[in-house]
Parts: sequence; C-alpha cells; structure tokens
Amino acid sequence: MDGSALSGPEKGAGANAGKTTAAPDGAGALPPVPTREELIAKVRAYHPRVRSELLGRAYDFAKKHHGEQMRDSGEVYYSHPIRVANLLADVRLDEVTIVAGLLHDVVEDTDIDIGDIEVRFGADVAELVDGVTKLDKLEFTSKEAAQAENFQKFILAMTSDIRVLLVKLADRLHNMETLHHRKKPESRQRTARETMDIYAPLARRVGLYDVAARMDDLAFQELNPEARRAILFRLEELDRENRGDLDRIRDDLTKLLDATGIRYRLKGRRKQPYSLWRKLERKSISFRDVADLFAFRVILDNVPDCYSVLGAIHTHWSCIPDRFRDFISVPKPNGYASLHTTVRASGNRRVELQIRTEAMDRTAEYGVAAHWGYKNRAYGFDVDSARAAGLDPEANLKAFAELLRDGAEPGEFLEHAKLEMYREHVFTFTPKGKLIILPAGAMPLDFAYAVHSAVGDTTTGARINGEEKSMRRPLKNGDVVDIIRGRAPAPVIGWEAMTYTGRAKSKQRKLERDREAAEFRRLGEGLINQALRRAGAEPVDVMLIDVANKIGISSIDDLREDVGRGKLQTSAVVNAAFPGYAAERTDDADKTPIDSRHAPLFVEGKDLMPGVTLHLGQCCRPLPGDRIIGVQVPNKGLVVHISSCPRLAEYDDRPELWRDLKWTELAKTGAVATARIRINASNQKGVLAKLCSAVAESNGNIVGISTGTRQPDFIELLMDIEVEDLKRLTQILAALRSLAVVDRAVRDQESQDEQ
Ligand code: MN
Repeated sequence: MDGSALSGPEKGAGANAGKTTAAPDGAGALPPVPTREELIAKVRAYHPRVRSELLGRAYDFAKKHHGEQMRDSGEVYYSHPIRVANLLADVRLDEVTIVAGLLHDVVEDTDIDIGDIEVRFGADVAELVDGVTKLDKLEFTSKEAAQAENFQKFILAMTSDIRVLLVKLADRLHNMETLHHRKKPESRQRTARETMDIYAPLARRVGLYDVAARMDDLAFQELNPEARRAILFRLEELDRENRGDLDRIRDDLTKLLDATGIRYRLKGRRKQPYSLWRKLERKSISFRDVADLFAFRVILDNVPDCYSVLGAIHTHWSCIPDRFRDFISVPKPNGYASLHTTVRASGNRRVELQIRTEAMDRTAEYGVAAHWGYKNRAYGFDVDSARAAGLDPEANLKAFAELLRDGAEPGEFLEHAKLEMYREHVFTFTPKGKLIILPAGAMPLDFAYAVHSAVGDTTTGARINGEEKSMRRPLKNGDVVDIIRGRAPAPVIGWEAMTYTGRAKSKQRKLERDREAAEFRRLGEGLINQALRRAGAEPVDVMLIDVANKIGISSIDDLREDVGRGKLQTSAVVNAAFPGYAAERTDDADKTPIDSRHAPLFVEGKDLMPGVTLHLGQCCRPLPGDRIIGVQVPNKGLVVHISSCPRLAEYDDRPELWRDLKWTELAKTGAVATARIRINASNQKGVLAKLCSAVAESNGNIVGISTGTRQPDFIELLMDIEVEDLKRLTQILAALRSLAVVDRAVRDQESQDEQ
C-alpha cells in the first residue's frame, strides 16, 4: 500500500456534494495572492537567513514582465508564478527554488531570455528556470496509458536537479487548481489526464503524497465528476451512519494511548475519493468494503515510542495480518517511513492506523523537500534529517535525484535495471507527441522503423524540430521527428551510415536486395524475350511457366532473375522451350548488353548522366567490391566514395547530389583503382624485397612506394598497388600479414575521426 490513500488534507468533503457549479468541490476559492512582504515573511519563518532582497526582486520582476496579461481565471497572470512560489514555500524549499518558481514562466511567455535571468538572479536560478522551460516544451498528447510510465522516466532523465521537478509540480498543481476556468473542454480533459497519468505519480515518487492526492482529486473532478460526486455522497452517508461508532472507537483509542503514558498526537484521516474509486475499479468489492473503515494517525516523539504504541494496539485489538507494514525498519527509497496496521476494534470495526514520528510525518507531507533545512550556517540539504528518515546521509541533491530515478519503490531491482538502460537511450517524439525511445546514437531512419516498418521503408528524409535535417545526425533528447515519405518502398541512398539499430539496417538491406532482384528480373526478362524472339517465338506467360518447370524453377520471376544474374544461360531457356533448337545464334545475345546500365562504365546507378566523368575519392580510395556512393559535384563530375567515408558528411545538406552506385561487372575485371596500403615491418635487411614479392605473387602491381617513419628496428611504408577489386586487395593484405617481418598491414584511409 502506498501513502497516497492515507495522507492528504482532512477536507470537509461531502459538504458540497450535488453542487452544480464548475468550481471543484471541496477545493473552494483560493486564498488571496500573497503580497511581496507576505511571501518573504513566510520563507523567513523557516529560513531566517533568506536573502529577502533577491526574493523581493524576483517577485517584482515577475509582476513587471508578465505585465497585464490575464489568465483564463480572470486573475492577472503574475498571480500564477506567485502562487507557484507560495506552494514551494509551503513545502519549505530553499530560496533559489522559490525564486525559480517566481520566474518559471518569464522566459517562455515574455521577451526575457535565460541570459537575462542569469545576469540578474545568478546561475543557480537560471539553471532551474531553464530546466522548467525545457520540461514545458514537452507535450504529452499520447492516449496510450502505457506511454505514461515512459514519460515519467523521461522527465526524470531530463531532470538533473530535483528542484526543477518540484517547481514543475507546483506549477502543475496551481494550473489544476484553476483548471475549471479554462474554456475548452478538450484542453481541460487533456491536462487532467496528463496530471493523473504523469504528474501525480511523479509527485508520489518524490514523496509529495499530499500534492499527488490533490492533483488526483482535481483531475478526477474534471474527468469523472459524476463518479466523484457519487463517492462523496456515499461517504457522507457512511459518516452519518457511523458517527456513533467513530466516536466510541476514538474514545477507546484515546484511553489506550493515555494508558501507555507516552506523549502522542492523534489525527483522524479521511479516504480520498479518487483512491476509493481506483479500488472500486480494480477490485470487485463493494463500496462499504473499501470505505467502511476508520483511519487514524498517531504521531510520537521517537521510534521506540512508535513500536511501544504498536505493541499496545496489537495487544488490545487483533491485527489483520496482511495489512501490517513496517516502513520504519525498511523505509521507501523516497524517504517515506511509518508503521501501517489495520486492526479489528470493538463492534468488529476495521481501524487503519499509521504510527510515526514527527520527522516521518513531515517527510510524508513534504517528501524530498523535508530534508532541506537551516542548519548551522548553510541552508540546504540536511544530512541529519535525511539520516533520521532512513536515507543515505551522503546523499546530495544530485545523488538524491538519481536515487529517485533508480527505483521509487522498495525491491524494484528489475525496474532499476531497466532504468540503467534508459540512460543510454534517447527520448524522441512523433509530431503527434508519441514518445519513441531509441538507443543513444540512433538516427532518423532508426526512428522511422521504430514508428512502423512501412514508415521506415518509404522514408526519404526527415524534419527535426520543424527543420529539414541531415539523416546522418544522431537524434537528441526531446527531438520531434517528422519523417518525410515517398510513395513506394525504396532503400535510402547511403543508409549504412544513416542507421544505428539492427532493425533499420536489416530492413534497409532487405529493400536493397529486393530492388537488386527487381533489376535482375528486368534484365533477365529483356534477355529471355530477345533470345526467344530470335528463335521465332513470342514470350508468353504459358510458355515461360512451362520452361521454368522444365528447368526446375518455381516461377517466371525466379527464371528471369536467374538469367539476369547470369546463373542461367538464355540458351538453356531456348533449349527448354524448343528442345533440339540450335543454340548458335543465342550465344551473342548472352554477351550483348541490352541495357545502357551495362555500357562500359565502371559504375552503374540511377540518374547517372551518360557522359559523366568518374573520379575515385582520394580520401577513401574505393575499390570495386566496396559499398559506394557517388556525389555529383558540379563542374567536376561524379566522385565516388566508400559509403562510410567521413567526407560524405560535407554533402549532407545536398541530398540531390547523391547517387546510389554499384560497381559494374566490367569494373571488377579491369584494373581501375589504386589502393594504398600502410605496412609496419621490422627494419631488417631485404625486408622491402620480401614485401614486393609477396604483393607480386598475389597479382598486385606496385605503382609507388614511400617510406614513413623509420626507426633502428622498425619501418613504416606506404605502398600504392593497382588492383581490380576489394577481393584482390584483401588477398594481398593477407599475404603481407603472413610474413614474419610484417607487424601490421592495413588499407590506408583518411582518418574516420576527422569529421
Ligand atoms: Mn507556469
């Protein structure tokens, strides 16, 4: 059980049941906006050394810069930041947080920027305001409940200082308190939903159970007013019925506590309508079962007293076994500590009790904030009070934020492991606000596949935060990614350097294979048709199916692809169609290129101009066999790079220049390229001869040698070798590495680091 259902203000709920105004039942009108002096006095009450000048200046600044803007509530806008600051003072936060509360909307809503804030109020304040402004930019419009948990994690991941979250929670609470003034019902509902799904759980996570309960109740009021009203009505009914019993049990309890001789404070508690509703929703039990119990809180001076009182109560009344929890011995990681027990009192009435010290009660009320305080000279995180609440005394603000992030409930080891994982993740959004979590390093194409394979398969570009951006840029936390799509599935040119996830890589690879297969099918179709027509036959489907079956191929497409790939000769097709037909005329057909892409060019690809000049990039020196990309450089021609070449980044903004290329068969048989090899070898007599003969034996033609560093026993060489393709180069490298004198032999490419 968590504390949410048990804490919270003791409101006169029920009194307003059946009221039809838009104002939230039970919430009533807000007290007047505190004046500058009232706010300062309130902070000074718990923090005597507060810099009242700073606080006053922030108050005036917010008032001045929000000007005469009005809120939907009819209050002037500046009342909002002041109320937020006031809420933060309620939980007794430090002055930096309260100043940040006063200024939290100034950057968003006025022409003041974060630099101004830093100059006027210092870096600490500016950092908090900046954090809150960033959180404000996120919109959680997803309707999927499963996303809510992710949003909570996202917010925690974005919040390096827990005070940013506290300001955000105060902001949200005040917005909820004035929600009924907002005119658009959809907007009210969305905010209420978001509050219930994201902010109330976050408040609970940091131990602000009271804030969480208020948020839940206000959201419940908006989302399901009838249900809430019905519950309040039933509660009131029960109250009337039970009044006699309640008084009797309170008397019994008082007598019992008095008899112990221990000093105590006794509080009655009321169930929150929303938590009752949740229980009714979750369990198939009646209202009476969930609501018909009395709840008290006993507050004591110290821990031994807590156990003494627990003993006295359990001696007098019998405890309901499953309902006993000892959060003093094992506090929740957010600091919540208390004993919880439910007993069966006289008249068979169930009585729920929370037993705790004053310090624990304060933690239950103020959560994280309970451990800030005035101590010696400094105001800040109070180690002793943290220790008293069972927290690690070494914890500072940052460590505490991490602690919260790493597991809000006891025993959440699995959860912890999951969150560890989130640190290496990047949180991004679709334009509609759906959260997409990707591994850090992921790029737009990975995002597209995470949304849907059909989106990934048709991706042609991406807008990030509204601007068209390079697809090679890793995404950042909070990026809104809008995928630009083409009509038909097609691989993205240069996808290898634009994908990070295995999923995106394998999907793009498949698209590439599919497209290649389609090209071979087209080529095969042309070759088959030509051969059959020469043999005097019209290539109709019936005939082709027959031919395919005879050869042992299952479809016409496969037949065409096999011919296109050169796995099957057209003569075999003609022979299958006309057994005994003399094949002499078809020999030419096999050799005659019928497609311009098979013209004597070294590379082939779409949109290549017929007479374009070919240059091999001197940065990466691509060889036939390498995966390549062309860049159509104006006034120069087509420059070919290895697809992973860092130089390609220079053309990221000019996707119209990119050409998807493949080496032609011809390129693989004529020596078209020079590879450069870097060799580290022992500097001994005859080493060069050994290296040269190894290259020659592997059919490489050395066209240049230069010496790099030379040391008494060590030599570095650069060797330019003509090779027909990557395969040959690999063989040569292997031959060199097999020599005893060679330490290292690698292909020399421009450093990948210089981007
Ligand atoms: Mn605000």
